[in-house]
Amino acid sequence: MNVLSVEALDARHGLLKAVRGVSFAVSAGEILALVGANGAGKTTLLRTIAGAHKASSGKVIFDGTDISNVPANKRTRAGIALVPEGRRLFGEMTVEENLLVAGRTGRKGPWNYATVLDAFPMLQPLAQRKGNDLSGGQQQATAIGRALMTNPRLLLIDEVSLGLSPVAVNAVYESLQTVIASGATIVLVEQDLSRVLRISTRIVCLLEGRVVLEGRTSDVTKEQITEAYFGLRRPATLEVEA
Ligand code: ATP
Repeated sequence: MNVLSVEALDARHGLLKAVRGVSFAVSAGEILALVGANGAGKTTLLRTIAGAHKASSGKVIFDGTDISNVPANKRTRAGIALVPEGRRLFGEMTVEENLLVAGRTGRKGPWNYATVLDAFPMLQPLAQRKGNDLSGGQQQATAIGRALMTNPRLLLIDEVSLGLSPVAVNAVYESLQTVIASGATIVLVEQDLSRVLRISTRIVCLLEGRVVLEGRTSDVTKEQITEAYFGLRRPATLEVEA
């Protein structure tokens, strides 16, 4: 059963079509990596799935229901959580407050303040620290933890490692492994292709808003992804069947 399917999705910024006819599906427990160069449309696509940006046409189907016209707050309650680019914590609130506030908006489930701190041990000594006083890695861990507090069935994470030190990236991914082991379904944007190949089960590469490569990660090579990423070959020669 697909948790998410996106069908012929278009999204615009004014006259600019940032997402063009995008279609793909993610089934339960899959980790889909969304890759593509700067400006390829990854953020717009994630925000459109989360309901933070309006689609101009096409469909977002979640758990078999067409949610294309459902507002963002109702999508959160239905089980979609977005970790936005830049993390957007409440900077004057503590880690604990950021997490507890999010817990009020979601569904009931296995994630709560205690289980999030178990999964993200780096947050344990920081519970009373304000969002503004955290490092990038600590902010990212808090932002992912905050999304988990809503007990999502689908977790969307924009730019997991952007601006983080290598040590922080490793720590965040280590905690994400705990989340993955819990059976979460995740769509994440990640620029590090080696990590994408290690962590994801499915990959979608965008080029100028269009899908130029889509398939099981185990079926594609790093070279194919790189070529799709930079548009070095015609898309038709790269498409990988699901
Ligand atoms: P990045 O890795 O740089 O974040 P991206 O793949 O996430 O890139 P988007 O941020 O979705 O891509 O941008 C897709 C296109 O839409 C780009 O051409 C970008 O300039 C444009 N765009 C994004 N946000 C806006 C906006 N708020 N207003 C106008 N154009 C925008």
